[in-house]
Amino acid sequence: MAASRLYLDWNATAPLHQAAREAMLRALDLFGNPNSVHGEGRATRAAIETARRQVARLAGALPLHVVFTSGATEAANMVLTPEFRMGRTPLAISHLYVSAIEHPALREGGRFARDRVSEIPVTSDGVVDLAVLDTLLAVHDKPAGLPMVAIMLANNETGIVQPVGDAAKIVKAHGGLFVVDAVQAAGRLPLDINEIGADFLIVSSHKIGGPKGAGALISRGEVLMPKPLIHGGGQEKGHRSGTENTLAIIGFGAAAGAAFSEFEMRNSTVKMLRDRLENGMRLAASDVIIHGAEQERIVNTCFFTLPGLKAETGQIAFDLEGVALSAGSACSAGKLGESHVLVAMGRDPQLGALRISLGFATTDEDIDRAIAVIAKIAGRRKPAGVAA
Ligand code: PLP
Repeated sequence: MAASRLYLDWNATAPLHQAAREAMLRALDLFGNPNSVHGEGRATRAAIETARRQVARLAGALPLHVVFTSGATEAANMVLTPEFRMGRTPLAISHLYVSAIEHPALREGGRFARDRVSEIPVTSDGVVDLAVLDTLLAVHDKPAGLPMVAIMLANNETGIVQPVGDAAKIVKAHGGLFVVDAVQAAGRLPLDINEIGADFLIVSSHKIGGPKGAGALISRGEVLMPKPLIHGGGQEKGHRSGTENTLAIIGFGAAAGAAFSEFEMRNSTVKMLRDRLENGMRLAASDVIIHGAEQERIVNTCFFTLPGLKAETGQIAFDLEGVALSAGSACSAGKLGESHVLVAMGRDPQLGALRISLGFATTDEDIDRAIAVIAKIAGRRKPAGVAA
């Protein structure tokens, strides 16, 4: 009998959480259009508004500041735009500054022309360089329009936590707008849009145990909003037209509710498992490099290099052993196996880094099995200096 699979790629996507599954099964019969005024419509509307409260609570925001989208990529494309409104007054944003380690969903610059997008470098520690950010904003051409800055709270490849609170102070001192991609941080770090000082947060359902096809753009207030990306019937208070993806939103809400209520338990267990994994890894292969191990990281992520093992070869070798992990970002459009995050950190992308990411269903036995597979694959490498 084939051995069961071991899923260790939670930063790519999480399995559906039981709470999301149950909420969606209950919602299958909620067929009313949430924008209809009759009883059927109101029943669906009530379920969507419950989800909005659940997502808002996870982000320390107000429910009326949550706009549901089809995912984080859409939320990014909605908010990364030169065209904003402050109430009824148009507000021009002339330039976007994104960190070099952003997910492509933001790094591509949304609706800004390519020549209106600049990168903020990271230090060799994988942390965004705030001194450079300050300098970039100091020379920003203010009469042309305001600057916008986008920095992620936790990196999807290394898990390294970024100093978004300090970045917010710098951005505000220069009169800019600040967008934080909280996709990998939601449910893994305490999240509060006001405490961070961000104007906008981006979150995604499928990274926290909800279904794919839902996400949200969360704002700090109601006055400052981007020009909608999708026009039409004026749903989501005119910010995102189209009949809501009811089922996915309800599942997203339930997953957010579970992420909030299980926060302490989940994170303490996952941290213990990740620490045990890394200790086991070091014993199994003393030359292993764990990228960002000395930095503050989200507790579920381990980005590592086994010298001599290429990323693609490693990924296939683990898959053949029944273990699903990834070589960096699953949805990166970069060269296969080459991590733009490692490049930004000044490390050799040929190093071939692999990412293990854990989640709420990962068990002690999973870690034992992962360590055994790592030991086996590490032992099969050619000794350094031996020609291929
Ligand atoms: N931002 C980060 C940090 C991610 O890891 C991802 C997905 O991998 C995204 C954005 C895009 O999310 P979505 O799949 O909801 O569009």
